[in-house]
Parts: sequence; structure tokens; C-alpha cells
Amino acid sequence: MFENQDRTNLEDLGEFGLIGHLTKNIKLTQPSTVKGVGDDAAVLDFTGKKVLVSTDMLLEGIHFDLAYTPLKHLGYKAIQVNLSDIYAMNGTASQVTVSIGMSSKFPLEAIEELYEGIYIACEKYNVDLVGGDTTSSKQGLVISVTSIGYADEADVTYRNTAGEGDLICVSGDLGGAYVGLQLLEREKQIYLENPKIQPDLEGKDYIVERQLKPEARRDIVELLKSIDVKPTAMIDVSDGLASEILHICKESDKGCNLYEDKIPLDPMTYETAREFNLDPTVCALSGGEDYELLFTVKQADYDKIKFKMDITIIGHITEPSAGCNLITKTGNVHALKAQGWNAFKKD
Ligand code: ADP
Ligand code: MG
Repeated sequence: MFENQDRTNLEDLGEFGLIGHLTKNIKLTQPSTVKGVGDDAAVLDFTGKKVLVSTDMLLEGIHFDLAYTPLKHLGYKAIQVNLSDIYAMNGTASQVTVSIGMSSKFPLEAIEELYEGIYIACEKYNVDLVGGDTTSSKQGLVISVTSIGYADEADVTYRNTAGEGDLICVSGDLGGAYVGLQLLEREKQIYLENPKIQPDLEGKDYIVERQLKPEARRDIVELLKSIDVKPTAMIDVSDGLASEILHICKESDKGCNLYEDKIPLDPMTYETAREFNLDPTVCALSGGEDYELLFTVKQADYDKIKFKMDITIIGHITEPSAGCNLITKTGNVHALKAQGWNAFKKD
């Protein structure tokens, strides 16, 4: 889905022409970037810091559907999902590389829109695009991003260091990206059955954006630094709250109690989930793609975080033998599971 209807043939441009075209306006801003695009490798300098590196791959048909994903948003999201991993280590993101595989049927204008989103994200989050690879693909569009960042050794936050009694916190709200996806899928089906019907996403901007245009939570990392709170463990919510808290507990050899009534849900997420006959709590637990930060803090830090607008305390870490539990609104205790897709349908 792209806006510019001109169609410049990629084959006329050639691989080097394309790379040159896509990278000609790069402005490097990071002191740690010594050399960006244009040699066999980028050269970076992180004197005195620990370097953080993370990679994610997005495949058409698996991770995105071009029927309802504007390429500009896709480029933006590809960067965000990668920066999120650097922030989840309590680091500062500073560089990315972007590799793309695409069919030669794609016109240059489509790739330009993809890169427009990539550059907007890079500029907004202060990261340099320092390299990548470009190749053709017979099986749809592939985008792989590697993000690079840094942190002081004492600041790096792992998954395996949550302590008994620590408070479990999450930023923002959960489940919106999944419910937004249900909405986009429904409108796609309606369109396929009757192309004359225009998609009806009226009033649903927030959850559609949560799906198409997520924002990595650099602001939360900065907020925690500014109030002098170092999380004891942290992870980003890419696969759903249940899966992520289970990672922290398993890696840390601990248990947890999560309280259903504390899980932050946006009203639009809640209402739209109900329209789809989905349990909003299940959407938050198993939906994924929210790219919020889930972290644990010492109880001594309670006063520093209790009134922070965008942070919710949703439970606490327990001894491992207590297991990982969800305490429901009615007070029932359920073992947390990283549920599959079939968990979504309400009976
Ligand atoms: P090599 O043959 O050494 O892999 P390439 O011709 O693939 O080199 O790339 C030339 C330069 O352009 C390198 O600096 C590489 O990192 C960069 N580059 C290639 N493809 C992309 C891309 N899609 N986005 C950004 N930079 C790219
Ligand atoms: Mg190459």
C-alpha cells in the first residue's frame, strides 16, 4: 500500500543505484559513529561503554500484510521494534542497519516510502542509519533491522535479576496493538468480499496506530534515570504480558503474582475487544506487539514510581515455589500461561 503512484523500475536503477539513492541524504549525528554507509563495514566507537546489539526480521505474510500496512508505517515500525530491544536493556540506541529483500516488481517509489518511515524513526529517536544490505526476494518483502546501542555497565538491565518482593511495573497500556490488528483484519475481509465498501476505522485511531505505528519507550528509560530508579529486571512486551513476565520469572528463578484489575487497558481497547467477543484481559496477556516496557523495581523505590502517570504497578515477584499466578478480579488464582492464539475466543 503506497501513495506515490509513479513507477520507476528498480531494474533500471540497479543495486548500487538503489543503495546510493536511498542513502544519499543520510546525516550522521552520533559521536559514536566513525564511518557509516559507504565502506565494507561501518566503524563505531563506544569507548568505556557496554555495547548492545539486537536484530529482528519482519516477513511479509508473517509479520505484516501490505493490504493494510502503509509502507511508510512499516519502515517506522521496523525501526521501533528494534529500538525497543535496546531500551529494554536500559540502554541508549545509537545506530541501526537495515537489510531489505524485495521483488523487482516493487517500484522505486514504494521503497522510497518504506525508507521515509525508516528515516523519520531514526531522526526522532536520534539513531544513525549506518549500513545494510539490499537483495531481491521471490517470496514477498523482507526487512531485517539490527539495532546498536550502549550503556554504562552498571545500568545494563537483564531479564534474570528480578528479586523476591520486587514490584512488577509496566509502561503505557496493553492489548491495543492486538485489538487494532483484529480491526484491520476484519476490514480487509469486508473489502475482499465487497471492494465497494470503504474501511470503517472511524474513531479507532488509537488502536490502529498501536498496531501500525508503535513507539518504543525511550521516554520510560529516561524517566527512570531521572528519578534515580534502576529496574532490577526488564523486558519489552513484544509477545504479550504473560509470555514476558514468564521470561523474567523463569530466567530469574522466581514466581509472581499479577493482579488482573491492575493491568492497564485503554478504554478503546476494552470496548473494541468486547465488540469482537474477546476478553480484554486475554488481549493484554497474550496479544503482543505493544512494545511497552515490563520491569521490576525494589520495594524501596515504591514512593518514587507510585504516582508516575505512565507506569502501573501490576504485581510482585515471589519465591519460585509459589509459581506464576494471575489473581483475577473475582479473587481466583490462575497459573499464568503463555497462551496460543486459541486462547482469544471467548466461550
Ligand atoms: P557489500 O558488497 O560490501 O555487502 P553493498 O554493496 O551491499 O556492500 O553495500 C554498500 C554500502 O551500502 C555498505 O556500506 C552497506 O552497509 C550499505 N547498504 C547496502 N544496502 C543498504 C540498505 N538497504 N540500507 C542502508 N545501507 C545499505
Ligand atoms: Mg551487501
